[in-house]
Amino acid sequence: MAVIKVKNLNFCYANDKVALENVNCEISEGEFVAIIGTNGSGKSTLAKHFNALLIPTEGKVFVDNLDTAIAENLWQIRSKVGMVFQNPDNEIIAAIVEDDVAFGLENLGIEPAEIRRRVDLSLDSVGMLNYKNFSPTKLSGGQKQRIAIAGTIAMQTKIIVFDEPTAMLDPQGRREVMRLIKKLHAQGLTIILITHFMDEAAQAEKIFIMSQGKILKSGTPQEIFSDIVQIKNLGLDVPAPVELADRLRRKGYKISKNILTAEDLAAELKGGN
Ligand code: ADP
Repeated sequence: MAVIKVKNLNFCYANDKVALENVNCEISEGEFVAIIGTNGSGKSTLAKHFNALLIPTEGKVFVDNLDTAIAENLWQIRSKVGMVFQNPDNEIIAAIVEDDVAFGLENLGIEPAEIRRRVDLSLDSVGMLNYKNFSPTKLSGGQKQRIAIAGTIAMQTKIIVFDEPTAMLDPQGRREVMRLIKKLHAQGLTIILITHFMDEAAQAEKIFIMSQGKILKSGTPQEIFSDIVQIKNLGLDVPAPVELADRLRRKGYKISKNILTAEDLAAELKGGN
């Protein structure tokens, strides 16, 4: 079942700049979709339509069949779709980790005992329970982002949109956040991940490529990264193992077309080529 439906969506910012042009897509319950595209291609603008931060200039966006343009639906939509942004420093407000995770719940007027229960559960699920009394300023970038994600998990939304959540993190922080995203997906959440790291996009079930305000192509990571020339012409990269497999193929090695990860390539090479 589609939890997000986008129909003939056009969006212009106040300066009349057309940011989205006739976008159509559907995201199914429990799906993990990555959105890739060069800077300014419209990824964030599209994502902000998924929880009614932006409302279509023309066309429709539905979340669980709720029209995002109808003001009375806003509360329900926000209780279904959480957002995590690039810079955890902009998202973390409180001086103590547990207060920060509790912040959104307090705003909803939830009982203190239930807040404590959800805060502990969320911190545990991001592996940060031991840090609940810490000051966020003492944490690494990856840990801060996990705290921001705990705040979103605590809201118990069934969809989480991640807008370049690893862009400001070191490789260790990136790995921590990607592990967490995959765990949330495995638990049944619908995940939408905007990223400019192709190895992260390769971990999704489906990829949308955006270019100049349009979804140019959608498909499985295998389908998307099979056309290396097209990806490069769009100013994007392919995951490093895909590139390496391609070079080996051109040198005469027999390498299957389905290589996405280093593990795939290692297994293929071990297979006796
Ligand atoms: P991406 O996330 O792919 O980098 P964006 O959705 O941020 O792309 O931007 C799409 C287009 O909309 C770009 O041309 C960008 O300059 C423009 N844009 C983004 N935010 C605003 C804004 N607040 N006001 C005006 N134009 C904007």
